[in-house]
Formats: sequence, structure tokens, C-alpha cells
Amino acid sequence: MKITDIRLRKLTGTMEVDGPFMEERLVMPLDVYEEFRVQGPPAAGTQVDDSHYELNQVFVQIDTDEGVSGIAGPTMPGGTAFHVWQMKDFLIGRDPLATEFLWDIMHRKSVHGRQGEPMMAISLIDNALWDLKGKWFKQPVWKLIGGAGRGPMPAYASMLGYATQDLGLVKERALEMQSRGYKAQKWFFRHGPMSGAEGFKKNVAMVETIRETLGDDDDIMLDCWQSMDVNYVVKLAEAIEDLNPRWLEEVAMPDRIDSYRKIRESTNIPISGAEHEYTRWGFKRFIEAEAVDIIQPDLNWAGGLSEVMKISALATTFDLITICHQGVSPPGMAWSSAQSPIHTPYVEMLVKHAAMSYYFDANGGPNFSDGELSVSQNPGLGFDIDESKIESQTDINY
Ligand SMILES: [Mg+2]
Repeated sequence: MKITDIRLRKLTGTMEVDGPFMEERLVMPLDVYEEFRVQGPPAAGTQVDDSHYELNQVFVQIDTDEGVSGIAGPTMPGGTAFHVWQMKDFLIGRDPLATEFLWDIMHRKSVHGRQGEPMMAISLIDNALWDLKGKWFKQPVWKLIGGAGRGPMPAYASMLGYATQDLGLVKERALEMQSRGYKAQKWFFRHGPMSGAEGFKKNVAMVETIRETLGDDDDIMLDCWQSMDVNYVVKLAEAIEDLNPRWLEEVAMPDRIDSYRKIRESTNIPISGAEHEYTRWGFKRFIEAEAVDIIQPDLNWAGGLSEVMKISALATTFDLITICHQGVSPPGMAWSSAQSPIHTPYVEMLVKHAAMSYYFDANGGPNFSDGELSVSQNPGLGFDIDESKIESQTDINY
């Protein structure tokens, strides 16, 4: 079997929504400058009117001379898609089942692209190859990587895009997720150090409201999204420690591993992070520095399924927990279901983002029921394009 084409399929479709889809954004590193510290949600799609939200997504499709194809994504039009396109001629004619070999030659070719968008492109290609491999052998990928078909896995509701400022709405949303069966929720801080004492109090009030709403038994995770500094996070951790957070996430920008370590040494709250880190060599820095308790590689960013299997294997040698960022993604589900539950106790369900990234799925999206996610039994990664949902499409060529 040989690869005959690598397509970048840009699909447009419109989700039906009930009011504004994205309610609020999280704190971001650029917020240290007032001009960027604006209110308002980020643009992951386009709110057309009160009940419609337009999506423009790019899927990587690898075709073969045997008629079997693999799909990965979505990504946005732009840098990552460009880097996929750059790999196209390099991969056409090669055996798509040789995933280790193909990863190695893509990595060795990318001497200036070991991280960021070039590695995100390698990740998508690798995931599409795994989907293809599963479809070729007519087996779900979790079975090919040695999973036993772990049953329903506890999901945590990741509240990116939900209101964080109106505490009445925070309470309402938290109760809504609890009623869907979630026993854990992750919320995102909206304010960083440059928002001063007022922002700090709002951050703490959000956590107090969530704990008060959910009661003592549910897990609450909190995400700083690499937008704070050491002193601020130490003070914040001190203020919320009694509220018993399950973990505090991305407490510093990814290259500031010493900051992670200092924060971890100062608090009893477990520290998670590294969703913006790449490859086994990147994660090794975090792991060896004892900078985190929980690592969160993203299957679509960190090097794909082939690489995240190596990263998580490395983490187990330090008895660390690995809970993949966007674990609900098709490769994230396959990977999660093949892990030991003690090393991967949760799967991240990004509630709004999963609705967007599974919009074009012909299989009806993730199998979610009563706070738990079950892996697809379909061959491959279990994601296929529903052609009837496509309003328009083009193949991107650079
Ligand atoms: Mg995060």
C-alpha cells in the first residue's frame, strides 16, 4: 500500500446554537498589556445570529492506492495546515503503515520545526496514519495499541468558553454540568497579575462559588493558562488551597520550568501542565525537573498518537499522571482507553470545543453518558466526515 495524496479539506458548516455560543474567554499571556486585556469571547468560529455559529475547519485526509483513507483534525486554516502541505511530496509513495519510520523521517526533516505548528502538523499526519491503519486492519485503534477496551471513563467538564464573571451564571453552569453526571469540572481564571487586587478577588470568588455550588465531593480543577507569574500564583494557591482544588494548571509559560517547580514546592495543590509542550524530549524537561504532578500532552499538538504513547510511558517511570489535553479528541479517546486508570483517571471533555470539533462527525460525536466517555468501537479512530453537513468545501493548496 502506498500514500497517493495528502489533502487539506477546508469544510464550512453551521452549528445550531442557543444564543451566543462563546460566553467568555480565559486569561491569556498577552493580557499583561492593557490593549489586549479586552472583554469578549475569542473567535473560534463566527456567531452568525442568535441561533447559528459558523465553523471553518481543516481536516487532514491521507489517501492510498488501496482505496483506504485516514482522517485527522480539525485544525484551523493557517500555519499548521501549511506545514502539513509542506510534507505532502515527502510522504507520497511511502507505506502508510510504517508509522514509526514516517514519524522519524518527518522529525528529522523538521530541523527548525521540532515544536509549535510544524510539530502540530506532524501530529495530525501521524493521527491520520493511525486512523488509516485501523481502517485497513478493520480494528479500532485502541485495540491496535494494546488497549483492552477500558469501559466508560470518568470525564471532567472543561468549562472553556463559559461565563466566569457573572457568579450567578457560574453557579447555573456548574449545576448544569453536575446534572449531566460530571463529578469534576475545570474552570478558567479570567484575570492575571496586571488586573490587580480587584481581578485577584474575582478569581478567588469564582472558585469559592464553584465549591459552594458543587459541595465537598466533586473535583474542581483550575487553569491559569500560562498567564500569571510566580508570586501571583503562589498567593492565589494560598487563597484557594482550603477549597481543595484537584489541580492547578499551566501556572507559567512552558519554557519557565523553574517557575513551575517553585510554585509546586510552595503549595499542596497538585500542579498540572505542559499542554503547550511537544515531543518526548520536551516533556522530559518537565518530568526530570519534578515541575508537575500531572502532564497534559495534546494528541494533535505534541507529536501525535505515536509520540504521546512514548511521552506517557516516560511519565509512568516517575509515577506521574497523564491526562491528555482535549482527551475527548478521537486520538485522545483511543490513547486514554489503553492507559492504566491510575495513571489516567480522567478524560478531558472540553464541552464547547468538543461540540465544534465533532460537528462534522458522521458517528454523532463522542459517546458521552452520565459523566463518562466511552471509546468508539468503529475501525480507526472512530471519526468520519458527514458529507451532508458540509455547506461548502475546498482543498487548500499553498
Ligand atoms: Mg489548559
